[in-house]
Amino acid sequence: MTGYNLLEIVSSCIDLAEQSGKIIRDIFNSGTLDIKMKGEDDPMTVADLKSQQHIIAGLRNHWPDIKIVGEEDCEVPPTQTFPDRTKLQKYSDSAPKDYLNMNKEDVIVFIDPLDATKEFTLGRVHCVMTLIGITYKGVPVGGVIYQPFVDADGLPVPKEQASQWVGRLVWGIVGIPVENLKDKRAPEDKGKVIIVTTASHFNQDIENSIQKIQPDKVLRTGGAGYKTLMVIENLADVYLFSTVGTKLWDIAAPHAILSAVGGTLTQPSGKPVNYTDNLSLVENKNGIVVTIGDHQKYINLLNK
Ligand SMILES: [Mg+2]
Repeated sequence: MTGYNLLEIVSSCIDLAEQSGKIIRDIFNSGTLDIKMKGEDDPMTVADLKSQQHIIAGLRNHWPDIKIVGEEDCEVPPTQTFPDRTKLQKYSDSAPKDYLNMNKEDVIVFIDPLDATKEFTLGRVHCVMTLIGITYKGVPVGGVIYQPFVDADGLPVPKEQASQWVGRLVWGIVGIPVENLKDKRAPEDKGKVIIVTTASHFNQDIENSIQKIQPDKVLRTGGAGYKTLMVIENLADVYLFSTVGTKLWDIAAPHAILSAVGGTLTQPSGKPVNYTDNLSLVENKNGIVVTIGDHQKYINLLNK
């Protein structure tokens, strides 16, 4: 075989995301985040940088030519980290055959080394995640999420109980059942329509879109990855961000896991997101809508 094997890439990403999570926790605990502003309201810390460098260097050690789109613009010093490519070997018979020998040109790895950086700098670390998504022919097919600051169920743990930050990994490949997920909907929320949206970039566009759906409840929190995971785990029916603000690296990994459990992510028009390594097109200019079911119903409401 001469192409890329998705099981080997996702296996390596699992290793690298867990290791990056430890790097992120250690930097947070050190108290020296070395915050720089990339733009208005867009901070970056030394943890974002170190996490991305670690992931890219590890991937390059196995696949020197693989296309990678990472959030941070940084040099990548070589490492001696050779992530484990064999963790998912047991799925070789059940995985879609196309994914075991993927045409190299058609594969892109999207890395958000630390999603929800602003929350991270404010100490609201429960929504921080490392996100690595793999697209094939423009469609997310594999995703790895690592939450460094939660317990094994993904529940927030306050700073004062930092020893309980064991971290949580969720990975998914389209066509393989996803493990380590729960239906977290509270009994009193059954039958309600719940929207989750941005905490920090709320605007009139989003308010107008929410009004079209007329939900029973609106939740606002940080992190595109965290909000998509809330939909995946049925804490919300819709993640709505009907304006510019998310990037392809924020959504590729959770999108793959969402697809693996039967959910849908599109633009508010219903059009698919265009996953490309053209850096001038990484911004989701029209916004995104994420659902776990009834996607078309919500798209119809939004476009009434
Ligand atoms: Mg980030």
